[in-house]
Amino acid sequence: MDHDHVRAVDPAVADALSAEASRQQNTLAMIASENHASEAVLEAQGSALTNKYAEGYPGERYYAGCEFADEVERLAISRAKELWGAEHVNVQPHSGTQANMGVYLAILDPGDRILSLDLTHGGHLSHGHPANFAGKLYDVEHYEVDPETGYVDYEGLRETAEAFDPDIVVSGYSAYPRVVDFERIQEAADVADAYHLADIAHITGLVAAGVHPSPVGIADFVTGSTHKTIRAGRGGIIMTDDEHADAIDAAIFPGAQGGPLMHNVAGKAVGFAEALEPEFEAYASRIVENARALGDALEAEGLSLVSEGTDTHLVLCDLRESHPETTGGDAESALQDVGIVLNKNTVPGETRSPFNPSGIRAGTAALTTRGFEAEACREVGELIAHVVNDPDDADVRGEVAEEVDRLCAAHPIYE
Ligand SMILES: *Cc1c(COP(=O)(O)O)cnc(C)c1O
Repeated sequence: MDHDHVRAVDPAVADALSAEASRQQNTLAMIASENHASEAVLEAQGSALTNKYAEGYPGERYYAGCEFADEVERLAISRAKELWGAEHVNVQPHSGTQANMGVYLAILDPGDRILSLDLTHGGHLSHGHPANFAGKLYDVEHYEVDPETGYVDYEGLRETAEAFDPDIVVSGYSAYPRVVDFERIQEAADVADAYHLADIAHITGLVAAGVHPSPVGIADFVTGSTHKTIRAGRGGIIMTDDEHADAIDAAIFPGAQGGPLMHNVAGKAVGFAEALEPEFEAYASRIVENARALGDALEAEGLSLVSEGTDTHLVLCDLRESHPETTGGDAESALQDVGIVLNKNTVPGETRSPFNPSGIRAGTAALTTRGFEAEACREVGELIAHVVNDPDDADVRGEVAEEVDRLCAAHPIYE
């Protein structure tokens, strides 16, 4: 990608942009929340809509000149409705966190109670971590995954819901490899007569393609990010029914945000159009097949997976038993050295700390976008294991780095 206009004004930023594009091409993006948006999405995000103020909603804007902004936002909304089957969609949240903020603002008062999965068990900051606004404004209690099985402890969730009497139960996670049983979460919410927010940030694409069951029609609110498995560029989205539509819209604007980032709304519209093409279902199924192939290879090489496998786009490795001397951070940096970019992650029952946790998380959404099939993902699993098994061996690193180079060259991201 050339950045001629940027280069003419600002060579330093142009160099960094080019270097970033090369970094993406020459490494394996296995951070499970990342993907590669298409050139069509990138073009929409870099369009003249970045100049337009469009406070309000289509047909009811505060400023003049919004006819094309309206058209783009209406397209994004109607495509989202088609993808996920929701009655009402708000495509304006700047991010997944702001989508969640919109839901909380719509229905909670400060001091109300949120019941969500513990962050170290796979939850998200915006589900009530003390450092996040949600943890500061609301009274938060957590449920957990069963440390033996790695699956959500639905029974424990139900008991906690009875005891804590939350106003909202949050499902949907950042580091959970298994299918989420939204019906069982709903039962726990019903016990407390609480709302249910299903935050499908990671699995928006899998849900749209029918590869993961949908919470739409079960949960009161469904939030998502638009840049992860759905591949529609950075941003957030909220889905709900007609009953809560006005409250959600008012909570996002003027409640939580000013004008929408209309260039990103355009990216969402384009990415959603791509996801409505029949190929997208095959893409989403391949993401999961690839994650299984990756996980099988890791297990065959002696690594342990939380829940012993995956139903989604990600695997979570717990290094404690197989590699007691190796932290997630050690593995992350050794792997970054050979061009495999993934992240250290806490594991259920974490015995170290969030800054120096015992696991690594790896996803296949971005690799699948650049054409990786199961065979190549199996090989990537073996390469990861070689490095984790021998993090200080320079020969191993050299060989793996060469193989990563070969895989990257064989799978161009952009033509
Ligand atoms: C990624 C993620 C989000 C959104 O994060 P942003 O960076 O704010 O877009 C929200 N919830 C969960 C569970 C996530 O994994």
